[in-house]
Amino acid sequence: MRLVLLGPPGAGKGTQAQRLVNRHGIVQLSTGDMLRAAVAAGTPVGLKAKAVMESGGLVSDDIVIGIIAERIEAPDARNGFILDGFPRTVAQAEALDRLLAEKGLKLDAVIELVVDQQKLVGRILNRAAEAKAKGEPVRKDDDPEVFKARLDAYNRDTAVVSPYYSARGQLKQIDGMQPIDEVTRAIDGILAETA
Ligand code: AMP
Repeated sequence: MRLVLLGPPGAGKGTQAQRLVNRHGIVQLSTGDMLRAAVAAGTPVGLKAKAVMESGGLVSDDIVIGIIAERIEAPDARNGFILDGFPRTVAQAEALDRLLAEKGLKLDAVIELVVDQQKLVGRILNRAAEAKAKGEPVRKDDDPEVFKARLDAYNRDTAVVSPYYSARGQLKQIDGMQPIDEVTRAIDGILAETA
C-alpha cells in the first residue's frame, strides 16, 4: 500500500501515520523526521536545512525530492509506505509521480486531513506541553510564532497540492478535527474501499 497523507502542520498526519504503520506493516516516511535527523547529525543536507526549518519555511524541492527518491528505494519501503509531510509543493507531487511511474508503481490513496486552522495553534501548544511533560524534546518549530510561519508556508505552497490530486481523481478528504480514533476509522474506511 502506498499512501500520501496531506494536511497542514498539526493536522495529525504523524499520529495517524504511526497507527497505519502498526496495523499495515508499512513504513512511515516523514520528510520532517528525516530532515530533523539530518540536522541532528550535522550532515550536508542538515546544514542546508537547519535555518530554513527553524524559520518555518520550506526546504528546497531538490533536497527533499532527493531524500525521498533514495528512501523509497530502501528494502523496508518495498512493501509500501505512508508519506507524511511530502509532497509539500506541486513540483514535489510531480516528482513523486515520476519516481513511482519509473518503477511501474502508483499511489493507492491520497488522504487529506481537513482541519480548522484557527484551532491548530492550540493543538500545537498542547503537543509541545505533552512532549515537555514526558521529558521528550520539544520541537523548536512548535514555537507559536514559527508555527504561524509554517501555516503560512502551507497556505502559500502546499494548499495547491490537494487540487493537484483532486484533478487526478485521487483525493479523499476527511474531517481531521474529529477525535483521533474517529479519524483513524475514517482512514480505514477509505483504505477498505481502495483495497
Ligand atoms: P514536519 O515535521 O512535516 O512539520 O516538517 C518540519 C519542517 O521540515 C517543515 O516546516 C519544513 O521546514 C521541513 N520540511 C519537511 N518536509 C518538507 C517538504 N516535503 N518540503 C519542504 N520542506 C519540508
